[in-house]
Amino acid sequence: MTTGGAKPVAGLYEVADGVYIYTITGFIMVNTGIIVGDDAVAVVDTGTTESDARALLNAVASVTDKPVRYVINTHYHGDHSFGNWWFLPAITIGHERCRLKLVGDEGASHRDTMASHMPMIREQVEAVPVTPPAVTFQNFVDLHLGNIDLKLAYLGRAHTDNDIAIGVEGADVAFAGDLIEQSGPPIAGEGFPNDWGPTLRKLGAAMVDRYVPGHGLIVDSMFVSDQASAFETLSRTCAGAETAAEAMEAMPQSVVDMLETQTPAAIQRYFETVTA
Ligand SMILES: [Zn+2]
Repeated sequence: MTTGGAKPVAGLYEVADGVYIYTITGFIMVNTGIIVGDDAVAVVDTGTTESDARALLNAVASVTDKPVRYVINTHYHGDHSFGNWWFLPAITIGHERCRLKLVGDEGASHRDTMASHMPMIREQVEAVPVTPPAVTFQNFVDLHLGNIDLKLAYLGRAHTDNDIAIGVEGADVAFAGDLIEQSGPPIAGEGFPNDWGPTLRKLGAAMVDRYVPGHGLIVDSMFVSDQASAFETLSRTCAGAETAAEAMEAMPQSVVDMLETQTPAAIQRYFETVTA
């Protein structure tokens, strides 16, 4: 697996004027964004627990006196959204299907699943008041923070059916959530492998120098392209196979090198989500 133009991301890191990455180092390490405009402050993703959210709030307070006005969720997964409540009354924003996955029984069910997978922090996760985005959209939203404009874009199904990317106009940086992952292979268990490649091609077309993955180090457009190629090749191989086992046999090593332990899950999801 290549790391492209990866740079170390530790703690709080200013990537452009007023644009910060803060890596939450809780039970799940996750990259969050802090964007400080003249008029308003936005954060991208909020961590898994109250302590994650408070760590992010402390990071915000270290760079600005302004309150957080907007919380943007890259997708519904709890490691990106369960900290939302601690930012209220900020306006929470996400894809319309991100809200559906976090509202009511769906949200409680996701919280229970997350808690059961993380016995070390089970009680903290169970205590989360799951807070779905209040403002939702289908394709694009422009968010104006004064001197900084953000473009929120849904580019297609990939890691989930509600991943969005957040571009910072003029700053050569985009927050990609789990559309791309650097610290491990892209998690495919709920993914749409046949769509993931084309979605990443659209992300790569943003032509920014730096992409902030949900987990791991900043990557460049070559990394995004490599990950797109892996999903495209996987999908072509699956399309030429009768069964998942046959596809696994025929899978080129380049795909396995990129998707690693997630390769079987990606193949399985291909056959679950693509109807002949
Ligand atoms: Zn995720």
